[in-house]
Amino acid sequence: MASPPAAPPAADAVAAGGSRNVAPAASPTGDPWLLTPGPLTTSLPVKQAMLHDYGSRDTRFIDINRRLRERLLTIAGGGNSHVCVPLQGSGTFVVEAMVGTFVPADGKLLILVNGAYGRRMARMCEYFGLRYGVEEVPEDAPVDPQTLERVLAGDPEISHVAVVHCETTSGILNPVEAVAEVTARHGRGLLIDAMSAFGAIALDARRTPYDALVASSNKCLEGSPGMGFCIARKAALKQCEGNSPSLSLDLYDQWRSMEANGQWRFTPPTHCILALDRALDEFEAEGGVAGRGGRYRENCRILVEGMRALGFQTLLPDELQAPIIVTFHMPGDPNFVFETFYDRLRRRGYVIYPGKLTVADSFRIGCIGRLGAAEMRGALDAIAAVLREMNVRDCAPRAG
Ligand SMILES: *Cc1c(COP(=O)(O)O)cnc(C)c1O
Repeated sequence: MASPPAAPPAADAVAAGGSRNVAPAASPTGDPWLLTPGPLTTSLPVKQAMLHDYGSRDTRFIDINRRLRERLLTIAGGGNSHVCVPLQGSGTFVVEAMVGTFVPADGKLLILVNGAYGRRMARMCEYFGLRYGVEEVPEDAPVDPQTLERVLAGDPEISHVAVVHCETTSGILNPVEAVAEVTARHGRGLLIDAMSAFGAIALDARRTPYDALVASSNKCLEGSPGMGFCIARKAALKQCEGNSPSLSLDLYDQWRSMEANGQWRFTPPTHCILALDRALDEFEAEGGVAGRGGRYRENCRILVEGMRALGFQTLLPDELQAPIIVTFHMPGDPNFVFETFYDRLRRRGYVIYPGKLTVADSFRIGCIGRLGAAEMRGALDAIAAVLREMNVRDCAPRAG
């Protein structure tokens, strides 16, 4: 297949090694390839972008920060109607900030749940003392817009709805556009956790109405971990003054203060911002959402085909699978011990991820980060070799 528009550095290393199909055991920096939900493999230029110390009031830094916010807004299709509010911390911090900032004390949040990240938003409501309801479906099923329709019609107290775009717990794609349509028709606000989808799966703010969407620096945008950001509908954010039960997680205050002087309220993650700004150069060079999503879809296709050829079964049918992370059933073969499998793959330079499903015993392999076809094929070769070492013959799941 064609290589990605902006090939990961490994492609050169592979070419230099003279092998077309097998990636080197480790990346150019000697680190293993991260086939995980994050943190993820970043390019060498993204890592190098962090070799600077900027003061928070440095005009160069303030310019980069302003440009970064505009670029993120553009990716979202935000324009003048929306703003980008960045926030320190991992993705969970900005999800919690979104819930606390947008849902007022007398509001009620309906959370559509089909995995751990939806459930986590319910815990946030518990911490904040916010009223909430949960509509839960199994982890291998998408959330249901028709159920949402019924629940909203029956409960006028629900002020906001929350949904996870790609539920990284399983890798399932949720029908966010349909959820947005129903929510808007009922006049409620929509909060989207797009953490593992933003930048790879199109969701255009001009067509899909929402009050807030959050994502982070280190998933499909391929920056370093350390900050999240909220794409907020300006008219909705303007109403959020005084909502947040937390000072550091108050997106309204963060927004007003950043608009006023271009600065972060508290110590900015300067290195992370430099890395993300560089990562967005690569994102644009690759062709934006279409290019990035295209590489991930190809990674996912290679992975799923290769794993099926080895006898593994995916949790999800192909039509529900987002090209982000794939859940595989644990093989039933008594010689298959996940910890051994994991450790031996790690020694060969590939890090995979345990499952955290309640519906099935499983593990996960990610398709995102600075990985291309060579790394996916390299991972498959390593998996085949480890299975031989472990004397695993049958990768079909345990019956029952
Ligand atoms: C990664 C992720 C988060 C945030 O996780 P952190 O570990 O806090 O960065 C939230 N929601 C989804 C869907 C995710 O994939």
